[in-house]
Amino acid sequence: METIHTIEWMKQITHEARAQDRIVGLVPTMGALHEGHFSLIRAAQRECAPVVVSLFVNPKQFGPSEDLNQYPRTLEADRAALEALGVDYLFAPSPQEMYPPGFHTAVVVEGLSDRLEGRSRPGHFRGVTTVVLKLFGIVQPRFAYFGRKDAQQARLIRQMSADLNLDNRVVVCPIVRAADGLALSSRNVYLKGEDRRASAALSRSLAVVRDEIARGERDTARLLAALRRILTTEPRVALDYAEIVDNETLEPIASLRGTCYVLLAAKVGDTRLIDNALIEPDGANFKVSV
Ligand code: AMP
Repeated sequence: METIHTIEWMKQITHEARAQDRIVGLVPTMGALHEGHFSLIRAAQRECAPVVVSLFVNPKQFGPSEDLNQYPRTLEADRAALEALGVDYLFAPSPQEMYPPGFHTAVVVEGLSDRLEGRSRPGHFRGVTTVVLKLFGIVQPRFAYFGRKDAQQARLIRQMSADLNLDNRVVVCPIVRAADGLALSSRNVYLKGEDRRASAALSRSLAVVRDEIARGERDTARLLAALRRILTTEPRVALDYAEIVDNETLEPIASLRGTCYVLLAAKVGDTRLIDNALIEPDGANFKVSV
């Protein structure tokens, strides 16, 4: 595996790969890699060669009171894991390389970025779409891989790619979870002791929604009430939002129809977590993926 720190060199390498009709795959990450990231990389390796994994803790997507400085950084372990997986290129630019003095541009997916996570974290998605468009411009991948763990983010990036006529396909991969159901996340290292135990309530509440849907419940207010009943049994969990929204508009729906998501965010102690379940029509019923 080659580690690349400069944009020019990364561009040159992927330019040459495309000239040889090779299929470039990109997996953007902020590092502190775990099985969730590895699942995206394996998906990329099934469809693409070379595979580029980017590792960049993007300052623009952190709010002023957020955890930019504490965010876990484990570059050497990440590099070893990527090497073991057989990744072709690790792209690890510095903040100065990505945002030199005089940088002026931001990319905003209007509307979709104001709701849910966007309302709780103003400016977050503006930072995300700006850095992802830069990565797309540098690597120009045919396929780019994102986790359904960050469902709203994946939805926004798909919209940005379509709106800006980018020549890539956005692939969204399933959520990888710990044995107790907690969605893997680099931020889970913040969860100590009782907080770690309590955090499993998030996926439990989504599993209850899945069970209620299997029993025939279609009313989203009643589904969300069942979800809240689980979360209120855990005093350490403070719900920020829980909504059932249409996959295209991200607007709340009154009863299940088409493809939709249960999206939730909660604080467990001082740690903010997000989780979701995907609801898809399946004949006369719905298939729910937690
Ligand atoms: P991050 O490093 O947290 O910015 O995540 C990089 C990519 O990995 C994003 O597309 C995430 O959605 C994805 N990802 C993070 N955690 C998981 C997980 N538990 N399962 C699947 N994908 C994940």
